[in-house]
Amino acid sequence: TRQWHLASRPVGEPTEENFELVTVDRPEPEANEVLVKTLYQSVDPYMRGRMRDAESYAEPWDVGEPMKASVVGEVVESNAAEYDEGDIVTGDLLWAEHAVADAGELQRVDPDHGPISTALGVLGMPGVTGYWGLNDVCDPKPGDTVFVSAAAGAVGSVVGQLAKLSGARVVGTAGSEAKIDWLTDELGFDAAINYKETDDLSSAVKEACPNGVDCYFDNVGGPITDAVWPRLNVDARVAVCGQIALYNETEVPTGPRKLTKLIETRATVEGLLVSDYQQRWGQALQRLSQFVQSGDIQYRENVVEGFENAPDAFLGLFEGENIGKQVVKVADG
Ligand code: NDP
Repeated sequence: TRQWHLASRPVGEPTEENFELVTVDRPEPEANEVLVKTLYQSVDPYMRGRMRDAESYAEPWDVGEPMKASVVGEVVESNAAEYDEGDIVTGDLLWAEHAVADAGELQRVDPDHGPISTALGVLGMPGVTGYWGLNDVCDPKPGDTVFVSAAAGAVGSVVGQLAKLSGARVVGTAGSEAKIDWLTDELGFDAAINYKETDDLSSAVKEACPNGVDCYFDNVGGPITDAVWPRLNVDARVAVCGQIALYNETEVPTGPRKLTKLIETRATVEGLLVSDYQQRWGQALQRLSQFVQSGDIQYRENVVEGFENAPDAFLGLFEGENIGKQVVKVADG
């Protein structure tokens, strides 16, 4: 069976050289463990942080060791009373075709509730991030303007649609015309800006948000934040969820800018971390799953075929190759 190991730590943009495909013996489950065959593996922007040897909220991966990922898989051998062969489960396992897991590390996925891969996206960690990040930190009210960056991604697409459901005016940024069309034609965004094709981002944000910005859900940072910040309204809420524009920078280009705007607006800026929501994880999933069933929340997945292409799928996140959640299809169930 095969695993992807961290071959070396990237400096700046990661490349394929940083990954090594390794063939190992299929692991054997011990007491209370199961052997999981990976069907879908997630690749996520936060993994860039784990490739770095620096203290952060997620521990660094070791060079020469397998990397970790959220996985949806099938139990193929079980020494645990809770699971039978054939059960579909999800958990934080490895970039691997097979992995053993303690029964307590896994959650069951019900294939009757929809495509099992959604447990990595809209009905998984990114969905929960969008749900609590928006509701807890931004708390949008009808008529508010909510601005979300990386709006056509896994988290952003959930945030924008939930904000619409709360009666807000919703504006997003994304990096291709296909994404802009999805946001405005299908997801109900009031406006969307293709930041890669816009010379004057500040004017574009001003035009798209004539009443200013009450909630800014920031997935990206960098120049988009510079353009949104001056449009913040009095008592605006800013949820700092991600800063993907900066993840590959070796030196952060500037410190936070335009902080006088916070004095003028008394805005609140709050960082959010999805792992703080363990207790309310199920509540978010239940609500999201109702919205998906009713069609109030739509989702897309960008499925990269083949375990050998997992590093490519990861690198593609930084090129904006994904519309919706980026997942790797490793095997058929
Ligand atoms: P996405 O599905 O949004 O994929 C990443 C997207 O980011 C790309 O598709 C691309 O879209 C955009 N992007 C990549 N590089 C840049 C750049 N240099 N400038 C602007 N946009 C860029 O990923 P997720 O939904 O999984 O994550 C979104 C953000 O949320 C990330 O920053 C991630 O780290 C963060 N996050 C934080 C969590 C938390 O607990 N705080 C939990 C989960 C995610 P395009 O350029 O086309 O817009």
